[in-house]
Amino acid sequence: MMADALLFPLLAIDRLRMTTDGEGVTTLVAGAGCPLRCRWCINRKLLAEKQPEYVTPEELFARTRIDNLYFQATGGGICFGGGEALLHAGFIAAFRELTGPAWRLTAETSLNVPPENLNAAIGCVDDFIVDIKTADAEIYRRYTGGDAAPALRNLGTLIAAVGPERVKVRVPLIPGFNDEADREKTVRLLTEMGFERFDLFEYRV
Ligand code: SF4
Repeated sequence: MMADALLFPLLAIDRLRMTTDGEGVTTLVAGAGCPLRCRWCINRKLLAEKQPEYVTPEELFARTRIDNLYFQATGGGICFGGGEALLHAGFIAAFRELTGPAWRLTAETSLNVPPENLNAAIGCVDDFIVDIKTADAEIYRRYTGGDAAPALRNLGTLIAAVGPERVKVRVPLIPGFNDEADREKTVRLLTEMGFERFDLFEYRV
């Protein structure tokens, strides 16, 4: 299921963000497409309003390099969001060849992708922001329409490959779907796996 390595379905570019999507000054590059169907998904709302524009790595680099000096001075770079950024792991790898190591590349992901997508991303992404939702299989299925198992397996691969420093796991309270007890259970499981950085928050619906 590796998506086309050379085209990225671009929904929006948001420049000069500070600390929300990674270290330093960051440009958020939002893409379309996700294997999940979360009940409170903002990306799908956006997609209903707007068609993506397909860009090559070179085109995206040309449009984002305007902030090269900010990125280099602050340790910032690009955050690939979505949608599911790791559907475009091949694209991100090609983009990395253009940026070199100086830009920090971050990916926002549910990790509900085939292992080969994650492996490709591990080779070119600096930081991962993982929206795991919940570790409870039943709640996960009800909220996302998908199976939690691939995401949990990929969590194990990710922590083994990059360690806890480069991963922040977002664990939400999801109105109508989980509660504080479920969130605590998920955080406990993640802590046992070795994760250390969490973003606990509540979805606004
Ligand atoms: S994982 Fe994110 S992009 Fe995908 S359906 Fe859920 S909220 Fe939307």
